[in-house]
Amino acid sequence: MQSIITIITFNSKKSMRRLILPAALLLAVCVMFLEASGWGWNTHRFINRTVVYHLPNRMMLFIQDSSFFAAHAHDADVRVDYGDTSLYAERPRHFMDIDDYPNFHNLTRSLDTLIMQYGWERVKANGTNPWATVWNYDSLVAQLSRGDWNQAKLTASDLGHYVGDAHQPLHNTRNYNGQYTNNYGIHSRYESTMLSPTYYLSHLTLTPDTTYYIADRINYIFDYIIHTNSYVDTVLQADTYAKIVSGWNGSGTAPASYYNALWLKTRGITLEQVQRATESLASLWYSAWIDAGLISTTGVLPAVATVPSEFSLSQNYPNPFNPSTTISYRLPVGGTVSLKVYSADGKEVAVLVNENQSAGEHTVQFTASGSLASGVYFYRLRLGNFSQTKKFVLMK
Ligand SMILES: [Zn+2]
Repeated sequence: MQSIITIITFNSKKSMRRLILPAALLLAVCVMFLEASGWGWNTHRFINRTVVYHLPNRMMLFIQDSSFFAAHAHDADVRVDYGDTSLYAERPRHFMDIDDYPNFHNLTRSLDTLIMQYGWERVKANGTNPWATVWNYDSLVAQLSRGDWNQAKLTASDLGHYVGDAHQPLHNTRNYNGQYTNNYGIHSRYESTMLSPTYYLSHLTLTPDTTYYIADRINYIFDYIIHTNSYVDTVLQADTYAKIVSGWNGSGTAPASYYNALWLKTRGITLEQVQRATESLASLWYSAWIDAGLISTTGVLPAVATVPSEFSLSQNYPNPFNPSTTISYRLPVGGTVSLKVYSADGKEVAVLVNENQSAGEHTVQFTASGSLASGVYFYRLRLGNFSQTKKFVLMK
């Protein structure tokens, strides 16, 4: 109850309309609870899991942990404490109702200046996503540079969440639940139900692309937020269209015909925004690695990648592959290492490593020769008594 009262208080200061109508107040409270959810959890997991496909191979220590990033994709939502009403609370970090500010294309990028211009209550009510993303980025750089690998991976997961949220159009508008345009409830219909396993989650796609070093983070983040905001009307109009074609009047549960029509009209921007979210995240992770000094100009991992405690041979990436793929492994001790590729009937088809190597993380690239046919192959790592084999698929 405490939190509800507080939310009503600051909303009433933000907008007289909400103060006048008790029903609107209740609605605003419900919407506040909704808004922190971001994309549905499924989409957050998709973004955090597939982002690694953009990363350069020298970020193998991240690439091989995609399931970890997916598992922690919504930790940030779980942390939301509705009783915490401070400017730096978790809840406002998930959105930026940027169009609540006049002339928002030229909005100051400085949080301090914005607070001076509009007051901290309005700034907090409108969300702190761009700055929260930068704070999170700075933490990631600090953790990577001191070699705090476990914490860095959790922070990177959170970064995926904030970047993901900022690419959902309804996270970048004061009309975040369609409450001002007769589209009430669109927020969760669009991001959660439409993108659930029942409907269109499996239609999300990712195309691997290049990562870039982002020197000016805050402007980069504002750019993608303003771009994302340009799709708000598309989502709202799609909702209106879907209601008309399905004959659904907005009360109770929307039928499948509603979601089919909603997807038809938002598919293009949704796929684009999820793709953009993964690209933005990949570039921010990559930039954090560079800022942490993890990638030298020669692409060699520094001492942070400490000596592992046991052998491990990772699944190659990408897999299936054509014609090249990368294999990484960790050695707790040095010695004569062999890494060979075999065909399904046990014939040796390539020698990738056969030399003395030191303890640590190693990666090697395998490019299938033109004479190798599509099919299942195996790669085997040996050092002393240790041997491990994994399967991979060449698909031409
Ligand atoms: Zn969120």
